[in-house]
Amino acid sequence: IERTLSIIKPDATTRNLTGKINAKFEDAGLRIVAQKRIQLTKAQAGEFYKVHAERPFYDELTTFMASAPVVVQVLEGESAIAKNREVMGATNPADAAPGTIRAEFAESVGENSVHGSDAPETAKEEIAYFFSGLELV
Ligand code: ATP
Ligand code: MG
Repeated sequence: IERTLSIIKPDATTRNLTGKINAKFEDAGLRIVAQKRIQLTKAQAGEFYKVHAERPFYDELTTFMASAPVVVQVLEGESAIAKNREVMGATNPADAAPGTIRAEFAESVGENSVHGSDAPETAKEEIAYFFSGLELV
């Protein structure tokens, strides 16, 4: 059993898509074991996405992530990291497979509704960035 960090991004929270997105996770066999709505500062968004600091879209990305509340959550299941990324679909909604969250809900490559950890080490780091041990059962 594996855990991964998911973020429902500002474009989705502002359109009241949290429930529809969570239904996709649960239908895929992912259990939501922790969840909270928070507002990131631009600095916190920048720290979270620091691997992209040198990319041309970094400023746009961190401004967007701080533009409205997000829902951060821990998803658990068999191969949760890969399964979550499958349910999310490709980064660019134009390339996302039908039925995926990004195909159905994303507005653009930047405002693409969800984030999911990409490997076991990043999942562990990203979960610890948002959740204390006491919040995880
Ligand atoms: P995430 O890390 O958010 O789960 P991802 O792993 O599919 O998404 P990354 O390559 O890690 O994609 O990019 C991180 C985020 O940066 C993307 O989800 C998207 O919001 C934004 N992004 C990526 N490429 C672009 C781009 N060309 N223009 C604008 N924003 C982009
Ligand atoms: Mg990524």
